[in-house]
Amino acid sequence: MPDIAVPHIPDPQPTLDPEDWAQTRALGHRMLDDMIDWLAGARARPVWQRMPDALRAELRTPIPRQGAPMDAVYADFQRFVLPYSSANEHPRMMGWVNGGGSPAGFLAELLTGIFNVNCGGRDHAAIEVERLVVAWAAEMVGMPAETTGILLTGSSMANMVAVLVARRAALGGRVRAQGLRSAPLVAYASAAAHGCVPRALDMAGIGSDALRAVPAGPDHRMDVPSLRRAIAADSASGLQPFLVVGTAGTVDTGAIDDLAAIADVAQGAGIWFHVDGAFGATAALSRQLRPLLAGIERADSLAFDFHKWAQVPYDAGCVLVRDPAAHIETFAQSLAYLTHAERGLAGNPPWPRDLGPDLSREFRALKVWMTLKAYGADGIARVVESGCAVARHLAARIAREPELELLAPVVLNIVCFRVAAGAADLDRLNRDVVADLQEAGIAAPSTTTIGGRLAIRAALFNHRTVEADADALVDGVLAMARRRSEGRVHQATADHRHPEYPA
Ligand SMILES: *Cc1c(COP(=O)(O)O)cnc(C)c1O
Repeated sequence: MPDIAVPHIPDPQPTLDPEDWAQTRALGHRMLDDMIDWLAGARARPVWQRMPDALRAELRTPIPRQGAPMDAVYADFQRFVLPYSSANEHPRMMGWVNGGGSPAGFLAELLTGIFNVNCGGRDHAAIEVERLVVAWAAEMVGMPAETTGILLTGSSMANMVAVLVARRAALGGRVRAQGLRSAPLVAYASAAAHGCVPRALDMAGIGSDALRAVPAGPDHRMDVPSLRRAIAADSASGLQPFLVVGTAGTVDTGAIDDLAAIADVAQGAGIWFHVDGAFGATAALSRQLRPLLAGIERADSLAFDFHKWAQVPYDAGCVLVRDPAAHIETFAQSLAYLTHAERGLAGNPPWPRDLGPDLSREFRALKVWMTLKAYGADGIARVVESGCAVARHLAARIAREPELELLAPVVLNIVCFRVAAGAADLDRLNRDVVADLQEAGIAAPSTTTIGGRLAIRAALFNHRTVEADADALVDGVLAMARRRSEGRVHQATADHRHPEYPA
């Protein structure tokens, strides 16, 4: 080191930092106290309440010219935002696929905000933490130690990145400069695959029509003989099969494709094997459930989320790619202003920006690292197993209720059922019952369609959900359905209906 001291310059004023940190400190402590009370009180509150129209209108101000004291800004958060959450914190949030967050995760988010590093690349510790978390993810599913990966907003982007890597692997580096040039690429996924898979093909310029929806059986798993036939037929007609997507945990029912059989087909046909394990891959942490995912370790790439079953706060998706060269060759660019240096802050390649579409990125890895360190793989495995146990309890209760009908097998933590009597239009009745439960704040399941019939869908992802919550859901469904079939319904006010969904 040259004998030159680091300069000392007193803090200039004014900056955005306060002259005296005491107020910031006090407000920060108060916010944390308030938010911990809010979280601890979740169970005692209605699951959801709609933000009133008048408040939405009041929120819409022009950009403020003058600043306001931070206390006043915080008061606005408490009035406009806090009471009208998406309900992820609540034990009876059972809709879609939403994680509940956790103390380790929210404390990490606080650190991330203050630390404010840019994880596009360069030589700093956060890059090492992200590499470690990626290595843990590979270890979780049994992919090789040299597997590369990055954290992204979610599985939608992770699936997109995997499609781009598979596209370059199929067509070579030229596709990055020249585009598809009408290369007749085709891809395969089960009919139960998530909508972000066709969208990834759309965004990759391949087109969603290039995705063959392979039929799923009554167990909602991909029919592998159909996959084999589709690949053979497409190859025979001069198309270029390049990608097969297995789903580990379908969004509708939680079905897990036979990943080992799909891996065999992909290997035999010489095409890329990608797994969408958005939530299901997390089940690999459970020794009891790991066998259901057999074959996931053979994936060329894997997309999954830490923000779903692993309870990391939003957002935290992850893509893993087995072949580091294939991954880097999809995204790396040589740009004068972003050159890797041999030493100094610009060292330490490859950078996350060489592995995905983003340059500036937040430090997502911190909340994943701290969550896994705080609870351990076993702690998250217990959450996963408990969600499955509550799902089995719910399914058993549904089987005992003559008015209810189970619509799909329960493999993991998702239960699809419906009220099977009491109205001519049962789809309508069940849709209304779900909205009734949400508006009453009792529980928030979502809906889907199973075999052409509208299903009430309860997905048990929140670590706070217990069997009594599942019973409260069933009690609520029965009460709302009886109220409707007996004509004791208050018509929802116009205020409660979105113009696109008229009464
Ligand atoms: C949630 C989900 C996705 C999309 O993931 P995001 O994190 O919401 O982008 C994709 N596939 C499956 C099976 C999912 O459950």
